[in-house]
Amino acid sequence: MDMAFVEVCLRMLLVIVLSWTIYHVTNRKKKKATKLADVATEERKEGGPDVIIVGAGVGGSALAYALAKDGRRVHVIERDMREPVRMMGEFMQPGGRLMLSKLGLQDCLEGVDAQKSTGIRLFKDGKETVACFPVDTNFPYEPSGRFFHNGRFVQRLRQKASSLPNVRLEEGTVRSLIEEKRVVKGVTYKNSSGEETTSSAPLTVVCDGCHSNLRRSLNDNNAEVTAYEIGYISRNCRLEQPDKLHLIMAKPSFAMMYQISSTDVRCNFELLSKNLPSVSNGEMASFVKNSIAPQVPLKLRKTFLKGLHEGSHIKITQAKRMPATLSRKKGVIVLGDAFNMRHPVIASGMMVLLSDILILSRLLKPLGNLGDENEVSEVMKSFYVLRKPMSATVNTLGNSFWQVLIASTDEAKEAMRQGCFNYLSSGGFRTSGLMALIGGPRPLSLFYHLFVISLSSIGQLLSPFPTPLRVWHSLRLLDLSLKMLVPHLKAEGIGQMLSPTNAAAYRKSYMTATVV
Ligand SMILES: Cc1cc2nc3c(=O)[nH]c(=O)nc-3n(C[C@H](O)[C@H](O)[C@H](O)COP(=O)(O)OP(=O)(O)OC[C@H]3O[C@@H](n4cnc5c(N)ncnc54)[C@H](O)[C@@H]3O)c2cc1C
Repeated sequence: MDMAFVEVCLRMLLVIVLSWTIYHVTNRKKKKATKLADVATEERKEGGPDVIIVGAGVGGSALAYALAKDGRRVHVIERDMREPVRMMGEFMQPGGRLMLSKLGLQDCLEGVDAQKSTGIRLFKDGKETVACFPVDTNFPYEPSGRFFHNGRFVQRLRQKASSLPNVRLEEGTVRSLIEEKRVVKGVTYKNSSGEETTSSAPLTVVCDGCHSNLRRSLNDNNAEVTAYEIGYISRNCRLEQPDKLHLIMAKPSFAMMYQISSTDVRCNFELLSKNLPSVSNGEMASFVKNSIAPQVPLKLRKTFLKGLHEGSHIKITQAKRMPATLSRKKGVIVLGDAFNMRHPVIASGMMVLLSDILILSRLLKPLGNLGDENEVSEVMKSFYVLRKPMSATVNTLGNSFWQVLIASTDEAKEAMRQGCFNYLSSGGFRTSGLMALIGGPRPLSLFYHLFVISLSSIGQLLSPFPTPLRVWHSLRLLDLSLKMLVPHLKAEGIGQMLSPTNAAAYRKSYMTATVV
């Protein structure tokens, strides 16, 4: 037989097989999606949940409670119901406590051996200063924060949410979102018996934390790893001032110590390169002893080293930043670290998240039917605008303050670092104004303080009298401060952030004295 004929036949056969396969695979996917959507409709008819929440961390648990209090049936699916052991979310700012109380969750800080915090103790090159949370007439709450073991707090939030009859908190790992024509109808998940199953609801909230996989198909934002936080616990000890967050301006970045229970002190520090010393072969412990501990003030050093000497487990956590964007799909909301992250140095992630939950739950409350995707989309647009004054102020402050804290051999940069320390040491309006920024929507005040810090750093650079070199460094400092600020402002959306009506609306609705 002619070889060319055979070749043509074989090609045709290949095309037929390929077309058949593609047709059947696509059809099977379509059928599966339709089947899942049918199951969704059936479940809803049978009185299924109004909302599915993926993840019962800080955000998922608090949101479940808030929505259930408003009468919604909530199905929360959490991968691991055991008490989380992690090195994040261990300090609740005064503003976060205000939000907790507005959500009716203030008692979750009780019974966890939480420690009161009244401010920061800052150390730099042998000098120290204390900056306290101000008593602010605009802030209707006792101005103190709380340190605690994050896992204990999360367990209290979970208990509180599941104490409501209309919350179903189930252990399971969510695999994917069920979608129909770009509208999310529910989720597929593996339950605690290992079975693949589904849950459907008019609204799904993705609150699966900083490693979220689900958000990738929903939001356009990308998380950027900015640094690595390395830490451990020194047990059976107390800091001389347990009510202060001890922040040590060290090299290459900062170190911290704070009292997370009556007997446990969290010790941590930051490294910038991803080539970290190995924890398993002891390189990290040696690095801490030889490079970080000598920079810790003598009076704190024994406590700093105690955990290491006793073999406390060293944890490494990525610090990420990610501006918020709205979901491209309907029927779904992304919240918490899956939605928005800032550098954790000012410990404000939970405050922003609780504020988001308060705003969102109030906006959703009047909606009779969460299945009206267009109405929910409108709510999300309002939510995105309303949250800006608070979230953008805190995010910009966190990201800029972190950049200032990084040590450098550049004279201009170092002058700014010193200027920041001096500013916080100066007391009075400057210190209290900067500390008050952590708690509320004050974008204009943020600009004012950053501007004055830059100007006073320039003043120091130029003294005792300006020389051409000093003037040159001063100009570079100005350029540096703009470079630190402008990208964050752009990412946060400067228009919405600076809108005075937005900030006033936020303060009026969410920072008043009425507490649940
Ligand atoms: C190093 C570091 C320190 C920080 N320190 C502070 C601080 O001191 N103060 C502060 O306010 N903020 C701090 N933050 C930020 C704060 O911890 C977070 O903003 C907050 O915990 C986010 O809550 P969340 O509910 O979004 O996520 P999480 O609390 O992480 O909860 C996510 C939950 O989702 C579950 N989950 C994940 N995937 C799935 C899945 N597929 N199916 C089911 N469940 C799933 C997880 O098990 C987890 O329980 C810090 C952050 C970092 C990185």
